[in-house]
Amino acid sequence: MKSTPLEQGIGKAPRTDPFIPFARPDIGAREIEAVVEVLGSGWITTGNVVRSFEREFAAYVGAPHAVAVNSGTAAMHLGLEALGIRSGDEVVTSTLTFTATAEVMVYLGARPRFVDVEPDTLNISADMLRSCLQGEYLRREGAWHHRETGNRLGGIVPVHYAGHPCDMDAVLSIAAEYDIPVLDDAAHSLPAGIDGRRIGSFRCPTAFSFYATKTMTTGEGGMLCTADPILAQRARIMSLHGISQDAWNRYASDGKWFYEVVEAGYKYNLTDIAGALGRVQLARCDEMLACREAIAARYHEAFASLEAIERPVCRPGVQHAWHLYPIRLRLDALRIYRARFIEELSARGVGASVHFIPLHQQPFYAHRYGYRPTDFPEAAAAYRRLVSIPIYSAMSAQNVEAVAAAVRDVVEVFQA
Ligand SMILES: *Cc1c(COP(=O)(O)O)cnc(C)c1O
Repeated sequence: MKSTPLEQGIGKAPRTDPFIPFARPDIGAREIEAVVEVLGSGWITTGNVVRSFEREFAAYVGAPHAVAVNSGTAAMHLGLEALGIRSGDEVVTSTLTFTATAEVMVYLGARPRFVDVEPDTLNISADMLRSCLQGEYLRREGAWHHRETGNRLGGIVPVHYAGHPCDMDAVLSIAAEYDIPVLDDAAHSLPAGIDGRRIGSFRCPTAFSFYATKTMTTGEGGMLCTADPILAQRARIMSLHGISQDAWNRYASDGKWFYEVVEAGYKYNLTDIAGALGRVQLARCDEMLACREAIAARYHEAFASLEAIERPVCRPGVQHAWHLYPIRLRLDALRIYRARFIEELSARGVGASVHFIPLHQQPFYAHRYGYRPTDFPEAAAAYRRLVSIPIYSAMSAQNVEAVAAAVRDVVEVFQA
């Protein structure tokens, strides 16, 4: 029998196990079979397989419409475009997110307006959101405008950090008060929910990501879900060159050659190759979630006694997607900082990452919009302490034990 990583004394003895990467897609024989079938079918770009994927995905999250695209970023871009976000608008979002959340605003000529996070979930703080809107925007000519830039308040983009849903009721009611739309960045939150309601079924368009590290993957891909048929139609047209019919209709044997370009659209359609992968991954979504939940539960238990480790929270009534497991270091209990902590994990064969460097601290956003590092103290303080450790369904039980042991060992070796 193989001894456990703990018995092998990870960190104390030279490492012999293979490196445990920070993320790894969970691709099995069924995914490979489905992709191979499309490859041999004679039709590899957007077609029937993607249409089926859209229907199945919409049913799964509880949204009437779903438009498949080739990235989560594309889904966000199309969502904001269809909501009418335009040049000179401002869109409010969390600073603790990936740049894709804010760059799509810039694509449309809009200005990202960042808000700080709440200390427990690290999601956008509804209180901060409210005080930002109250303090910085004035009502004029039927819309809200920023008191300094004069820009129109265009919308809100909440993000469900790590897969923990943000307070959607609060965000949606603030949006209703200000009469502005919401686009939900659900890149981390498949599947996640609040009080039995799944992210994707709330009253706002919702963008999912199928990037390789996300909770399900199509290699690259994304989905825009909405209850609004007109918004779905707009996004669908814009996802394929602004053409009023998609290529599948155009080239089907009984299809028409005639098409109309009604807008200067984008090239964001998903291939049937990716769609085939997506259908199998979607069917395994609950099974993969159950694995991540078990890993989160194991870490929760393993780190309970470690004073130097602050564990991620899960509020009551919340279905957490556990896309990430971000621990926060209690730096006063350690002799090392976060960067060294990650190096030490790596030396023990464990990949780790940081989610996220706050956007207001990134050179582009800082320089273009004049943000200072001290602007959002909760996000800035969290950033210095954050370490995301591996959590994915392709991990073995031994992998999970090895990660827990590596964290424990680094804490023990470097405690203050
Ligand atoms: C991954 C991610 C995206 C973008 O998804 P892509 O599919 O990589 O384009 C958007 N927002 C957040 C918060 C993400 O983590």
